[in-house]
Amino acid sequence: MDISYILNELGEDRSQYFNAVSPPIVQTSNFAFDTFEELRNAFANEESAFLYSRGKNPTVDILSKKLAALDGAEDALVFNSGASAIYCSIMANVKSGDHIISIKKPYSWATRLFDNVLTRFGVETTYIDGTKIENFHEAIRPETKIIYLETPNTLTYEIQDLAAVSQLAKSLDIITIVDNSYCTPIYQKPHDFGIDLSLQSGTKYLGGHSDVLAGVLTGSKEMLKKIFNEQLLNTGSGISPFNAWLILRGLRTLPMRLEHISKSTLKVIDYLKKHPKIEKLIFPFDENFPQLELARKQMKGACGLFTIIIKATSHHQIERFTYSLKHFLVAVSWGGHESLILPQAGGLSPEDFDPTIERHRMVRIYIGFEDPEYLISDFEQALEVL
Ligand SMILES: *Cc1c(COP(=O)(O)O)cnc(C)c1O
Repeated sequence: MDISYILNELGEDRSQYFNAVSPPIVQTSNFAFDTFEELRNAFANEESAFLYSRGKNPTVDILSKKLAALDGAEDALVFNSGASAIYCSIMANVKSGDHIISIKKPYSWATRLFDNVLTRFGVETTYIDGTKIENFHEAIRPETKIIYLETPNTLTYEIQDLAAVSQLAKSLDIITIVDNSYCTPIYQKPHDFGIDLSLQSGTKYLGGHSDVLAGVLTGSKEMLKKIFNEQLLNTGSGISPFNAWLILRGLRTLPMRLEHISKSTLKVIDYLKKHPKIEKLIFPFDENFPQLELARKQMKGACGLFTIIIKATSHHQIERFTYSLKHFLVAVSWGGHESLILPQAGGLSPEDFDPTIERHRMVRIYIGFEDPEYLISDFEQALEVL
């Protein structure tokens, strides 16, 4: 399907709403029925009827049609955060005694679900280095139900071979789930490689303006129906009509925002890589990235987020460098209009900082919509201070 069609037309039946160009925010909790038969059908198939907005809602419906098409999937569910998309996709597919294989250090709230919640219900998780397919083979047990992936991750950008993992999983009836927040469907389409469920934090690039939280899950109608009925409705974690509308608005400009950020990121990276105070730079499309070949094979692009390892000997030095930057906000998240910086040292107390540990000197950078030259000159003066 043509991306211009998806973003501008698909799902938008304007004759239903006064030919308004922008779709309405259908701000209602419930829907009325003209006949018993219609009411009965809605009760029986809530996944395909407008009954109550904890389930389906017309504004959310427009959005989910577009998100499914962007991913080349049969269907999509939209959640009120990426974390709830993770939670519901996992919870719908495990029971006591089951086993999960996850790449090591997935998104923090996936880790907390695996380690703090699921352990109480007898579900065990094995963490592996996902850069080697052998590690998946070795970790598989008869009770393995899910392989959980995140490619690339958002600090060190290790990637997994989606085609190889999904081939292995399919042969054993194991469900594969991938967190595709870094790439979005513009740069990577996990279903093309046979992955069952693709999820994203819509809070990042899809929303794109740091003003809304959202989560997306795409896959087959059958798998999503189960997740909708067992998890989304029970946890009440569907997106609200207004937030769905904000994501719809963000989607209109998604490709051009990513294109702009991609170009700017390359310019900033080019400058930082050559700087004597920077020991290393990690970015999936960098010529020194150890998995560059695989990145090129399964990703169309990368943008915005990369990590530098700075030559610093103290916690204080990193803090001074960070706050010398005038145009980067110190904040979590990414994918919006504003450039961000998140040093690992920021989460450590000064006594725990150890410069011999590379991770402690890692600084994650996100490039927003600003002019790259504007950002480069900011780095120039802040690196001077370092
Ligand atoms: C932010 C993020 C999430 C969680 O999304 P929320 O919308 O914040 O709940 C999941 N995965 C990755 C990679 C993220 O960056």
